[in-house]
Amino acid sequence: MKTYDSLAEIQSDLKSGDTTCKALVEGYLSNIEKNQQLNAFHTVHKDYALSLAEEIQKKVEEGTAGRLAGMVISLKDVLCHDGKTLTSGSKILEGFYSQFSGTAVQRLLDEDAIIIGRNNCDEFAMGSSSENCAYGAVINAAGKNRVPGGSSGGSAVAVQADMSLASIGSDTGGSIRQPASYCGVIGLKPTYGRISRHGLASYASSLDCIGPLTKTIEDAALLLEVMAGADDFDDTVSYKPVSKYTELPPWQGKAKIASFDDYINHEGLAPVIKESVTSLFSDLKGDGHSIDNRDFHLLNYVLPVYYILTTAEASTNLSRYDGVKYGYRSESAKDLMSMYKKSRSEGFGSEVIKRILLGTYVLSEGFHDAYFTKAQKVRRLIKEETIALFEDHDFIIVPTAPTTAFELHSHDRDPLEMYLEDIFTVQASLAGCPAISLPNGVDKDGMPIGIQVIANKFEEKKLLSFSKYLLENYLNK
Ligand code: GLN
Repeated sequence: MKTYDSLAEIQSDLKSGDTTCKALVEGYLSNIEKNQQLNAFHTVHKDYALSLAEEIQKKVEEGTAGRLAGMVISLKDVLCHDGKTLTSGSKILEGFYSQFSGTAVQRLLDEDAIIIGRNNCDEFAMGSSSENCAYGAVINAAGKNRVPGGSSGGSAVAVQADMSLASIGSDTGGSIRQPASYCGVIGLKPTYGRISRHGLASYASSLDCIGPLTKTIEDAALLLEVMAGADDFDDTVSYKPVSKYTELPPWQGKAKIASFDDYINHEGLAPVIKESVTSLFSDLKGDGHSIDNRDFHLLNYVLPVYYILTTAEASTNLSRYDGVKYGYRSESAKDLMSMYKKSRSEGFGSEVIKRILLGTYVLSEGFHDAYFTKAQKVRRLIKEETIALFEDHDFIIVPTAPTTAFELHSHDRDPLEMYLEDIFTVQASLAGCPAISLPNGVDKDGMPIGIQVIANKFEEKKLLSFSKYLLENYLNK
C-alpha cells in the first residue's frame, strides 16, 4: 500500500478507483503484521475491519458514504467499542468486553470510520512511557530501545508507523501530546468537555479528555468536529455549538504569543529542545509576531497539584474494580473481603496500586484539607492565571516535553523523573484549555521533538489554524 498522510489523499484515490476500502484495510493490516515487535496493538479486528470495508466500499460507490469513509482508525484501549475487548492496559479487565460504544466512538462509526484495532497503553492511562502496561511495553518506531511516551503510546506508534491513519487517545495530563511529541505526529487535547467522556474508562474525571493523533491538521480538525458536542450521557460535556473546524481559515496577521522563562530555562529541559524552541521564537519574531516571555511562578506547583487531584480521583474511580463487577477475580480468595483484596492486589499493576494508595491518603480524614482541598485551591489559581494570559495573548507556546524519547527502563528507579516528563503538559490540563503537540524536527539520534501550542478554552479553530500556519512556515525546517 502506498503511504497515506491524510484522509483527503485516500478519498481522492477511492474516488478515482485507485484504491478500495478493502485494499486500505489490507494495507494497514500488513503494516500491523510487519511491526508486531512494536506492540502498538492489544487487539486487531481483522475480520470486522474487512467486513466494514466491504460495506463502506458499497456506500462509496453509491455516493452515500459518511465523512470518514476510507479512514482506518485505531482506538486506545480505554475507549468502549461495542462487543470488543476493553482492558485499559490492565490485567484486572482481562476478558472484559464493552457492552456499548462510547459517544465519540459511535460518532466515528456513524461517519463510516473503519476501526482496525485497539492500542496498548499505560494501565488506566497512568504513565508517560507506555511501559506500565500489563500486555507489554510499546516501542517507539524511531528507535528500537526507546519508549513512545505515554500513556497513549500505542496510538502514537500506530500513526507513526502507518498501522492506522489516525488513532483516538485520551489525555489527562499530557497522554496524547507527549507521545505525539516522542513519535513525531500531531496530538490534540481539546478543551475539557468538548468531547463527551461517555465510554472512556475513567482515570481522573475532572481532567480526562478524548482526542485525535494524526499526521495532518486537517484530519485532527475533522475528527474533532465529528466527535465533539453535546451528549446526554456526560454531565460535564459542553453544550456550546461545535465550530466547523474543517473550514479552517488561513492564519492571518501577527500572533501575540506568551511563553515562560521558567519553562525554557528549566534545568530538566534537554538542550536540543531548548534550542528548537528558541530558534522558533526568533524566526517568529523576525516575521513580526510577538513573543512575551513571562514567569509562571506557579510552575513548581503544577505537578504536585496534578498528582494530588488525579490520584484522589483515581482512587474513587477505580474502586469499581472489586472482583465482582468486571474482569479479574482472584482464584485464591476465601471470603468476600479476601476476594476484594486479592482481586485488586493481583489485578492492578504497581503504578496503579501506588496511585490508589496515594489518592486514598490525600482524601483521608485529617489529610483531606491539607492536600485535596488545598490542591483544588491551587488548581483554581493555576487556571485563573493561565486563562488571564489569553486576555492579551493569542497562544501560549512551550515545549511539549522536557526530553525526547528516552530509553526503555531508564526511569524505572526514579518515578519522579517519569512524573517530570509531564511538567509542561499539565498546565493546560489543569486549566481545561485545548493544547496541541506539533512535530518539529529530530535530535541527533533521530528522535522526534515536539512543540506545544495552548489556546483559550473552546478556541480549537484558532489553535488549529495557527498550527497549520506553523507547520507550513516554521516547523521541521
Ligand atoms: N503521564 C501522566 C500521568 O501519568 C499523564 C497521563 C494521562 O494524561 N493520562 O498521569
